[in-house]
Formats: sequence, C-alpha cells, structure tokens
Amino acid sequence: MTEVAHRFDPFILREYDIRGIVGKTVHAADARAIGRTIGTLVRRKGGKKVALGFDGRLSSPELAAACIEGLNAAGVDVLNIGLAATPMLYFSVYHLEADGGIQITGSHNPPDYNGVKWMMGKKSFFGADIQTLGAMAGKGDWESGRGKVETREILGAYAARLLKDVKPGKNLKVAWDTGNGAVGVSIRAVVDKLPGTHFVLNEKVDGTFPAHHPDPTVPKNLEQLMAEVKKQGCDLGIAFDGDGDRIGAIDGKGRVLWGDQLLVLWARDVLKTRPGATIIADVKASQVLFDEIARAGGKPMMFKTGHSLIKAKMAEVGAPLAGEMSGHIFFGDIFYGFDDALYCGLRLLNIVANAKESLAEMRDGLPQPVNTPELRFDCDDDRKFNVVDEVKVRLQQAGATLSDIDGVRVSTKDGWWLLRASNTQPVLVARCEAADAAGLERLKDALKAALGASGVTLPDDVEAGGSHH
Ligand SMILES: [Zn+2]
Repeated sequence: MTEVAHRFDPFILREYDIRGIVGKTVHAADARAIGRTIGTLVRRKGGKKVALGFDGRLSSPELAAACIEGLNAAGVDVLNIGLAATPMLYFSVYHLEADGGIQITGSHNPPDYNGVKWMMGKKSFFGADIQTLGAMAGKGDWESGRGKVETREILGAYAARLLKDVKPGKNLKVAWDTGNGAVGVSIRAVVDKLPGTHFVLNEKVDGTFPAHHPDPTVPKNLEQLMAEVKKQGCDLGIAFDGDGDRIGAIDGKGRVLWGDQLLVLWARDVLKTRPGATIIADVKASQVLFDEIARAGGKPMMFKTGHSLIKAKMAEVGAPLAGEMSGHIFFGDIFYGFDDALYCGLRLLNIVANAKESLAEMRDGLPQPVNTPELRFDCDDDRKFNVVDEVKVRLQQAGATLSDIDGVRVSTKDGWWLLRASNTQPVLVARCEAADAAGLERLKDALKAALGASGVTLPDDVEAGGSHH
C-alpha cells in the first residue's frame, strides 16, 4: 500500500516536535509519512543518509520500522542505531556524518504517548518547519527511491566521547536514576568507567515506567533518588527524563537543585575558560541565575522557553552554555551544543569532584529568594495568547518595567513575576520570585489582579511544575 499523500491530526504537529497518543492520534502511517517527508527534505538539500534511534516505549519499534520505510521510499539510506536516548541519536548524526537524525520518542509523556524529534543536518527543526512538513505530506510532495538500512553500533564511541571530558579530582559516591527510560542503554557504559562508587536505580528500560514517571521536574518523581542518596550517603544524585535530554539533581542532603540553580554552577565552570561569554537561560529562570552569571564575568541573556528555540539562539550568538528550568541544558564550550543530560551529569560530577565544598554547600551558598514553582493552569488555546497580550498592553500603559521576550516578565521592587502561554498545551504558566515572603505575596496579588482584569482566575490549588513547557 503506497500512499500518495498523508494527512496528520493537526494536534500532533507541535511547536518543537511531533507527539500524540498512539493508536488515537499517532499511527504507523504517520511515522511512515514523517520518514517520507523528512527523507524528501534531506534529498532536496543534497543529502542521502539519516540516522535513526528510538526510545524504550512499547510502541517505539513499530513506529521506527514505519519511519524507516518512509525514509527508504524517499530514496534515503537509514543508519539505525536502535534503542537509544535522544542525545545518543544526536551524537550519531555527528559521529556517523549523517545528513539528519530522527528519534522516535514520547520524551517524559505518559506511556501511551509517542512522537518524533529530529535534526536536519546539524540543526534542529521546529515551528514553521513542522507546519511545512505537514503541508508537504498533505500534498504528497515527496521524492521516490529505494534506500537501504544498516544497523550501526555506536554505544562505545558515544560513551568514550562523554567520558573524555571527565576529570575528577576525587572519588565520589553518586546515585543515578534513569527512571526505566532510554538512558538505561548507556548508563553502565559510562558509570562503570568512572572512579568512585555508583548506584544505578531503575536501569532496565521499560516503557511502562513501573517505578515512577520519568520526569525529574516533578519532586515526587525524585523521592526514590532522594531516599537512595540518603541511604548510601551519596555526594549527589542525578535523574533523567524518559529520553535523556533533561536532567534533575539532588544534593547530599537529599534536596533538589532546580535547572536554574544547576546552571549557576555550570556557568561558573564554563566562564573560567570562556571569560565574558554569553550564557542563555529561559524566562522562567530565577534572577539569581542572571545575577550570578554576571558576577562570574559572563553576559547573561534571557530568552524564550523552548529547547529548539534556545538551541538555535545559542548557535546564533555563539554561547558556550544555555539552559532551561525544565532541565534541558546545552553545553557548547567543548561539546556539540545539544541537550545531553548524561553529559550534563558528568559535568556536574566534575565540578563536585574538584571543589572543596560539597554540592549541598554550593547550593546553600547561592542567594535564596522565595519563589513559587512553575504554576500551570488551564486556559483555552484560542484565548491564552490574547490573555498574555492584554496583560502586557495594560502594564505597558501603566508604565511597568517588563520584558516581553516570551510572555510578560514584570520587575518590581519586590522581585518579578512571569506570565506566558504554553506553546504546546492549553495552559498559562506563571512564576513569581521575591526577596521575602511578604514580597512574594505582593507579587502574587499583582499577578492575580493582572489576570483578573482579563477575566482569568488564578486557582488557589494551582498545579506546580512538571512539564517541558
Ligand atoms: Zn525529553
């Protein structure tokens, strides 16, 4: 059965990737059409081979097989690296000198989700590119041919590349929680070569995620790791999301270090060899991060939330480091600039293993503002961006100090508050940060008032954290 065109459920063509519920909005036919269309784009740019990997979800092998059929039907050869975390696929594009890469992954979503992330050449592909892909498939605007498939084993090369930058000054005890996600494929090849003592939790790749959900931005998903860190007396604990492109970390006292706190530590480290460099963080990050980057001699840059957007901006301004609250961290100083959480874990281990202080002491040494977690609450897709615009216009008219790089981030003498619309869900996202509790209450009241004027109520029991965007 050769399709002449293919229509996607428009809901799955998202801002940064393609993702949906398997058997409902995502089927093998979608994966085949994605392969055919990406294969077409690769060929029209003069390329002919694409690397492909897939995560540990139960539906991944079937979707991968269909995607390979589509790529081959476009006349593109596939280098199949098999079960792998997303960053291992990114690495394979460089290592195998492929013209692009496709990862079948549902990232941190529930087990019945799946989707696709990819690279076109060495670049990410998002926003309007994804709409173009949908339109091409809808018209059957495809190349034809007969590509081949080859299996490629890259784990050894990948682990060696990650380990190359590890230079610990002392032995550490570290707990690692791969959450039954795809990092389970590569964790042993890395930690077995590290000095020190290492405890790996939930190593077996299992797409039903039996231990806990693989999303380290949600504190309850870190409880097992916290317990292990305490039980074994570890110096630190490191957690991954389901496809290994986001990191979470725990100090020796079992406390979470959030993405913006970790980024302070990595920024100080990178700035030692790259003084004056630009370091990028998303609008959700604490003011502490931007202040500390400046204090360490760097140029802080606030940018939009969204891993593809940040990656593209990083390449544009030549930043050696960038990151998001969500745990997507990008090292470009001596690495490729993509978000590899296992590599980030090793760079954190380097810092702790070469410092006089413990990770807990580093955490306590940071300024401690009071802030809300990321507050997420429902708002219709056709309303969410308008609400943010209305709030912005009213505040501008009132002479407020604000940044509109992504939503509105309003600065007052108490601190700041942020309101933005999720690019991927019918949700508004807010965060507030102040020097003290009284200031935080004033900021929350200001946020509530700003929303109220647009007829939106900030729920009292608003859901905290727990998503990419
Ligand atoms: Zn992910």
